[in-house]
Amino acid sequence: MEVHNPADGRIVGAVADTDPSQVEAAVARLRSEQPAWAALAPAERVEWLLRLQDWIFANSADIADLMQAETAKPRVDAEIEPMFVAEVIGYYAENAARFLAAEHPRPHSPANMSKKLAVTYHPYPVVGVITPWNYPLALPGIDAVPALLAGAAVVIKPSEATPLSAMELARGWAEIGAPPVLEVITGRGATGAAVVDAVDFVQFTGSTRTGKAVGHACVDRMIPYSLELGGKDPALVLADADLDRAARGIAFGGMLNAGQMCTSIERVYVVDAVYDEFVQRLVAIVAELRMGVDDREFRYDIGPLVDSAQVEIVRRHTDEAVAAGARVVVGGAATGQGNFFEPTVLVDTDHSMSCLAEETFGPTLPIVRVADEDEAVRLANDSAYGLSATVWTGDRARGERVASRLEAGTVNINDAHVNLFNLAVPMGGWKQSGVGARFGGAYGIRKYCRTRAVTVDRLPVAKSPSELLWFPYSRRKAGLALGMMRALRARGLRARIGRH
Ligand code: NDP
Repeated sequence: MEVHNPADGRIVGAVADTDPSQVEAAVARLRSEQPAWAALAPAERVEWLLRLQDWIFANSADIADLMQAETAKPRVDAEIEPMFVAEVIGYYAENAARFLAAEHPRPHSPANMSKKLAVTYHPYPVVGVITPWNYPLALPGIDAVPALLAGAAVVIKPSEATPLSAMELARGWAEIGAPPVLEVITGRGATGAAVVDAVDFVQFTGSTRTGKAVGHACVDRMIPYSLELGGKDPALVLADADLDRAARGIAFGGMLNAGQMCTSIERVYVVDAVYDEFVQRLVAIVAELRMGVDDREFRYDIGPLVDSAQVEIVRRHTDEAVAAGARVVVGGAATGQGNFFEPTVLVDTDHSMSCLAEETFGPTLPIVRVADEDEAVRLANDSAYGLSATVWTGDRARGERVASRLEAGTVNINDAHVNLFNLAVPMGGWKQSGVGARFGGAYGIRKYCRTRAVTVDRLPVAKSPSELLWFPYSRRKAGLALGMMRALRARGLRARIGRH
């Protein structure tokens, strides 16, 4: 498969279009290597991941060059991806042993106090990580790292549009001489489906449509999955917001990576009292964004969209909005060069328009005037998606109150995308935006494990040969056992002793 640069269409590489039939063999290879990997102590796996981190730091500029070749991202966006993977390695390296250690919860009832309880964590043998094109190194990296540290082997299937960056992870893993428990398999959708058919856990990031197909396939095989899907994230600008910060934050939140971000701000609700001033400030900032093909100079803010199909979606959402009465205040069209689309602000939009109802995944910010906070919340929740949201207010308590009313997996107050860099909290979507989450402290690594519960007597005392509820049943034994259960749970003395 040829890989193209989206700014000028030139071919920047070619990778195998792996036949689905070859996926099974690759997964079988990983499956045979995995037990030895899982048998290492967490500290030994941590050491391999830290060596990968060293390799990433040493090669970050070259990785960014390659990523720019296949995405034409601005330099900052390209350089941040290897740094982010390194950050994720650092976080889980520091915490993996603790997160994976056996837990000993207290028995839930006095009746069980004689037992010592344990919960132990055991990796799924092979985890399949399937990723889209918008963050071609970060997404496979941040999912592969905790899965590897959990003791699983990992197969990554990157997007056919941007496979080169993910392949760098496999190159790094091989160059540090790590055990062969990480493979990248390139190919199209059918190759991804074959991965789903072969692995033991699927970590999928992509569109809601494909995510549903993946979920169905996982249910058919009775294997677990985690789905990070699309979004249509709202921003709520309240009357007491710092309008300068809100405008800058929303411009960044909506335009980062040319809006090709699951957590992009794609709907902006501004209360009437500050509407005009906010729009004026936002437009001034968006109009100054620099769009172009960056090199290593950090000169541009916005790059092109990934392909012409994506340009077509953004164009359709903009044109349909205008046809239905919206106004373009800045931008509004494809430049005609490569896959560039101008950073765009739309006003006079409403929920009947595709720009507010469907995921756009492009550099557009449709703005809606609302009467007050209540209307902002109602409209923000009027979406099939529920990935994340932002609230802009000068009153922290008010921001937290509004957050508690939003149907979203994350709410950033007076900030955008910042939750992504907070690995102790889960990043997961409500409604059509996903199932499960990535990150989230211990959850982020334990999700790649099956649990085993073990019960054993707390004291090594000689046991009676039988238990109260073992055979043979009798009225006396049943009376004792049932009476004890009633006495421990019923409300009120009379109920406890069986008098009603
Ligand atoms: P797609 O759903 O089209 O593709 C995602 C991945 O799935 C690609 O690797 C694709 O391969 C593969 N794939 C396609 N068909 C199948 C199948 N039947 N079984 C298994 N795998 C398959 O998404 P896009 O690449 O278009 O990415 C954009 C989407 O990703 C947006 O909706 C965005 O919101 C979402 N996203 C969500 C994030 C989150 O964390 N919630 C983060 C980033 C993006 P191929 O490309 O070769 O067809």
